[in-house]
Amino acid sequence: MGTLVDFTLYSDNKKNAPIAIKAASDEMQRIEQLFSIYGDQPNAIKTFNTSVPNTPIKLPDEVDTLLAQAEQLRRKSLGAFNPALGSLNKLWGFSRSTDASLPAPSSPPATDQISALQAASMHCIQKHHQNRWSRKNRDCKLDFGAIAKGYALEQGMQVLKSHGIQNAIINAGGDIRVSGKHGGRAWKIGIRHPRHAEKVIATINIEGDLSIVTSGDYERFYIYKGKRYHHILDPKTGMPATKTQSATVVTTNATSADAWSTALFVTGLKGIESIEKLGMSAILIDADGKIHTTENIESRLQLSFSPPMLRTSEH
Ligand code: AMP
Ligand code: MG
Repeated sequence: MGTLVDFTLYSDNKKNAPIAIKAASDEMQRIEQLFSIYGDQPNAIKTFNTSVPNTPIKLPDEVDTLLAQAEQLRRKSLGAFNPALGSLNKLWGFSRSTDASLPAPSSPPATDQISALQAASMHCIQKHHQNRWSRKNRDCKLDFGAIAKGYALEQGMQVLKSHGIQNAIINAGGDIRVSGKHGGRAWKIGIRHPRHAEKVIATINIEGDLSIVTSGDYERFYIYKGKRYHHILDPKTGMPATKTQSATVVTTNATSADAWSTALFVTGLKGIESIEKLGMSAILIDADGKIHTTENIESRLQLSFSPPMLRTSEH
């Protein structure tokens, strides 16, 4: 997933902790292999992505379940999240840094190519009975880049728990799953300033079973002719989404937090209400650098300095 993963555990069993961490880390690496569309190792996603169009193929239970969840998320987010952007993502090339054989991109692809692959990715996945799925055309390819890390975080935490660990935090490059407390206190999580890597724009105190995942336009990007091009695409245009600098979602399940942070990044402010209706919390930094939050998170949030802050209800 192109990131380092940190494990922090609070436990009075010194022997058990490293065993739990090893098991959780193995589980997360297993998930990476299962969902990766990069590298040479075969998996069911790569098989699906090269399958004959309109021919159902059987996916393993775990892949079937996550794909069904991803497709549901696509519908609920009104298309802001789309797990079938594989060809478009490859065309833009932002994940190449995890595939060392290819150079990092530095200019946008041709618009006719973008529109062809954008069209091919719309409603292109079809479910059949018993774990069977098909794709409608050759350019329809799955890419779980916006959800697999969250799923790995969630499963990693479940493995720690199965080893008796109650208090822990797993941090995958700023995408975080916590459980319990940090000693006697809540875990204090910093949200990065989208334009100053070294600055924290806000901190949030969380405890118990919670995930906090951020999608940002600073993670993988280049500037071309004065314009920022980054890795989060608007499925409706095939272009990098333009309404947001960073979108953070806080909710129990890390899989949902990951997928919804990507969806919220695409929708911008108008998506924040649906997030709140679904019982989740969010912190959104819009294209102008203004911070917006769901009301349900304000009491847990401290701003590091005082940028203009607006609540959803003020819009
Ligand atoms: P994240 O960093 O979690 O927001 O995920 C971004 C990654 O998910 C990208 O590198 C792509 O692989 C993929 N992706 C980009 N845009 C979308 C989108 N709108 N819906 C689903 N996946 C996306
Ligand atoms: Mg995501």
